[in-house]
Amino acid sequence: MEAKLNPRKIRDIVDGFHYNELEGKGLYGLAGNLTIQPEYQRNYIYNDGKKDVAVIDSLLKGYPLGLIYFNQPIQDEDKFEILDGQQRITSIGRFFKGLFVVKDTDGNEQYFSSLSKHQQDQILETELLIYDCYGTEAEIKEWFRTINIVGVPLTAQELRNAVYSGPFVDAAKKVFSNSSSAIMSKWANFVKGNPARQEVLEVALDWVAQREGTSIDSYMAKHREDSDCNELQTYFEAVIDWAASVFEMKDNSMQGVAWNTLYENYGSQAYSPTEMTMAAEDLLSDPQVKSKKGIYEYLLGGKTATHLLNVRVFTEAVKKKIYKLQTREAGQKGISNCSYCAIGHDEKKAKIWTLKEMDADHVTAWSKGGSTEESNCELLCKSHNRAKGNA
Ligand SMILES: [Zn+2]
Repeated sequence: MEAKLNPRKIRDIVDGFHYNELEGKGLYGLAGNLTIQPEYQRNYIYNDGKKDVAVIDSLLKGYPLGLIYFNQPIQDEDKFEILDGQQRITSIGRFFKGLFVVKDTDGNEQYFSSLSKHQQDQILETELLIYDCYGTEAEIKEWFRTINIVGVPLTAQELRNAVYSGPFVDAAKKVFSNSSSAIMSKWANFVKGNPARQEVLEVALDWVAQREGTSIDSYMAKHREDSDCNELQTYFEAVIDWAASVFEMKDNSMQGVAWNTLYENYGSQAYSPTEMTMAAEDLLSDPQVKSKKGIYEYLLGGKTATHLLNVRVFTEAVKKKIYKLQTREAGQKGISNCSYCAIGHDEKKAKIWTLKEMDADHVTAWSKGGSTEESNCELLCKSHNRAKGNA
């Protein structure tokens, strides 16, 4: 890859700048010769009133903005794309277009148009240090993958979108990266992550890749030239629609559950949504249930796998106290300190187990309403505790 330093004034960069609010993208500059956001770049994420303002403050104070890299797809042709620096240039363009304000030294909000002529010129005359890069697609992408990007690091999926850019990624981003689409709020109930940072797309890809027993990378490589993402979208929607048809409530713990696995394992069984939703709500409000995410599989599987709920256990202090009480009483009676051993007929009838050889057991099982308090704690030898089973 060749890289040639070619500084340009902001005045030239913002010439023809256009910002698309709907897509959240800065599009063009350099009088139409610069594509600010090629499809493989992430959406604009500096518009938080801090990073974008910081860019303008830096310019007004004469601080450097760092290096910017342009890609020149065809050598000697005057067309460029931004490889790195899109966030900074979009911030400058949006300010130039009057889309946000900065505060001056007196604390007054200023649009570009309300700055003094001197300050406007200071911004427009600033030279940005830009490298024009020319190389094969593979070289450029390899470089893009490895550079240490200034500012917000790329998410894993943003990188994959860059590496496997093409019609499939374009189609998939239209479906999965649009934060304002109505369906996104339904999906957000089940999926964690920011659509604009490609985190919803990542989940969708992960699910369809898992079904095919492959990785996200190989799925994207295989489908790179597809003109649509129908398979991806259909499977994702099937999983979400199924989950929404069984559990009708909203709870944060539903985000990030492996719904795809649950769909594969339980999707063909019949459930009553009213009963499942009520049961889930009961467990969600049970302070003894430590793993809220485990509730869904526990219920779908018929309430047997209690370990999924990670039910609260007795503390070491309670165990020690109960052990002492039980052992003293057993010693006086000449029987085992495990009540199950004590009623048996073998040599363990009078065995005194050490604390390490015993486990704490809920006298009344948690699943039958028993609490995790001292009064409901009994120590049993390990084999009887295992035999008794349910926590
Ligand atoms: Zn025992």
